[in-house]
Amino acid sequence: MGNFKKLSIQFFIIVGFGLIPSLICQFFTKTPTNRYIHIRSFRYGKDPSVIICNRGDTLHLTFSTDDTGHSFFLEEFDIDAKVSPSREDVMVFKTSDPTAKPVHTSELVFIARHQGIQNFIVARSNYRCHIWCGPMHAFEQGKLVILPNSLLIFSLGCVAGILFFWLLGMFRKTEPVQRSDEDQNGYIDLFTGSGFLKKLVVNRWPQIILMIFAMVMIYIVILTSVLGTKVSGRNLGVLLMWAIWLFFLVAVLTPLFGRIWCTICPLPFIGDWIQRRSFFSPLTGKTKKYNNKFSGLFRKWPGWISNDWPRLFVFMLLATFSTTLVATPAISGITVLMLLLVPTIMSLIWELRTFCRYVCPVSVFVGPYSRMSMLSIRNKSQAVCDRCKPQYCLKGSSDGWACPYGINVGELKENSDCGLCLECVRSCKYNNVSLFKRPFATELGTRNISQAWLSTAIFTLAIVYCILYEGHWPIVRDYVNILDKGNWGLFGIYSLIVWIFALVIMPGLIYFFSYAGIKFSNLSESPVSIFLLSSGSMLPLGLMLWIAFVIPMLFVNVSFILQSISDPFGWGWDFLGTANTPWHQLFPGYIPIFQAIIILTGMYLSLRNLRKSWQAFRIKRKQEFLSLMPITVFIVGITITMLFFFTN
Ligand code: SF4
Ligand code: SF4
Ligand code: SF4
Repeated sequence: MGNFKKLSIQFFIIVGFGLIPSLICQFFTKTPTNRYIHIRSFRYGKDPSVIICNRGDTLHLTFSTDDTGHSFFLEEFDIDAKVSPSREDVMVFKTSDPTAKPVHTSELVFIARHQGIQNFIVARSNYRCHIWCGPMHAFEQGKLVILPNSLLIFSLGCVAGILFFWLLGMFRKTEPVQRSDEDQNGYIDLFTGSGFLKKLVVNRWPQIILMIFAMVMIYIVILTSVLGTKVSGRNLGVLLMWAIWLFFLVAVLTPLFGRIWCTICPLPFIGDWIQRRSFFSPLTGKTKKYNNKFSGLFRKWPGWISNDWPRLFVFMLLATFSTTLVATPAISGITVLMLLLVPTIMSLIWELRTFCRYVCPVSVFVGPYSRMSMLSIRNKSQAVCDRCKPQYCLKGSSDGWACPYGINVGELKENSDCGLCLECVRSCKYNNVSLFKRPFATELGTRNISQAWLSTAIFTLAIVYCILYEGHWPIVRDYVNILDKGNWGLFGIYSLIVWIFALVIMPGLIYFFSYAGIKFSNLSESPVSIFLLSSGSMLPLGLMLWIAFVIPMLFVNVSFILQSISDPFGWGWDFLGTANTPWHQLFPGYIPIFQAIIILTGMYLSLRNLRKSWQAFRIKRKQEFLSLMPITVFIVGITITMLFFFTN
């Protein structure tokens, strides 16, 4: 049976696993009742932050505020109730038409029931605040859960379905596979055919134009962040960076094209020019072992920090202060400015793109997850590389610059270090470098301990960010609020927890489960080698958690993007006539559905890669089953926890 047909059948059976319980649960709905709930708003949260009711219940809501004006914004029910400290009643606006006359009432009554099919598939809605109440205003949210939660039950059924096929696969006869980062099965050379793509890549103009465009965008981000409104949800710089760029980087560019952002990234642009003194083909001459002439001190980065630790440290530092960055546009803008200045200054001292290789916080994300991407640079023939003495790709030639990331394409077996700068396509005189399309999530394992740690830390931070930005716990916001509440003590505790969790507990857990697998199965492999494989298997799930995290960042803020594009500094301009667009989220009721599907896909791919990694050991099935069981339980446990988080 063809692979596609087999996968399609699997897909429908897994969906069946989810559909059956979610249909059955429709027959167990409870009799609707009246629920009287008082909602207290405060900086920055709602109490209760979770409302659970049954489908058809009549909700009677009353409101109060502890401090300033707030609102209870629930788009799926067309409600925006403005709560004022000076009034007992609330003004209820329609989200579908904010200009319509509001209704004054002391009790807001509505029935917990959605229209049409949504009544059966949407269980969770988020209520938010639509009155700016301070720098952490965007974090003020709670959730309304209407039971039965068909989506959660469907998702748990799908988890069972995926596990069923996974176990079935374990006991089916399969050929041992080679580690797919060592072969190129399924790779399709994109330069074959008309040759148009190759011409586009070799020509420097398209890349330079895109880099200049990205540079202009980055200046807009810096200017509008620093000089524009301090309301981060209306600040163009903040929205461009944290809603649009982050979404496309995480959910589109990296999964599909790997480090394609690095191809046009403006951060090393000026530094490259300082070293090369040319935007185009290399100048003749030699610098050290390279066949190109470079300027600057061109020192080597110290050996003891030539690994993943420095950039992991920078990333962790920025991640710790991320809420402050998002909530304070000026700090966001200054950080971006620093990200522009530091690589430029470093290029004067250290060789090539040292910043990209060892310091860049963006590479902490794009590096590991580019290994899952569908695009890669590889050689066409290993035999040609093996015979190649000049190593033009590494050292440069008259046609292309030396690899800014210090890579010899003949030894390139994985995506994480290759910044897709395309120079090797130009510099290789044997025409032996090409762009390849390949299946999604093919690279297995991790290369060494620092890469494993990096992958684990970035996986952990996806979970931390979800809790921080999309969780309904106001206490978490208190722990990170160093802005208007100045909770430095709590912030210290939060930072410690995040660092220990990301750098000690999570890697420790993965190591422990890998070790447990070895003990259960008497596998004669070292725990470290199993740990490296297990960490690599977490990459698909980690990437999907990141995608699930960024979806609301964009979908919730689309209207604000339209507003701020028309009034970039928040100074009352209205270029495009969209400055007063009312707030509408994109598919608010469907966001949990997208998130659930994405996380289930991540679990499926992680389990598949886990098993593929082990197949190379050629061990008996029972032994394979026992060795994989602990880490599988871990992956499934995290999936189920995050499904509860996003859908319930
Ligand atoms: S590594 Fe960082 S600075 Fe370098 S090109 Fe990629 S994103 Fe830009
Ligand atoms: S990619 Fe080209 S330049 Fe690099 S080692 Fe292979 S043949 Fe030589
Ligand atoms: S020169 Fe080639 S191998 Fe080196 S970073 Fe650029 S694309 Fe990757």
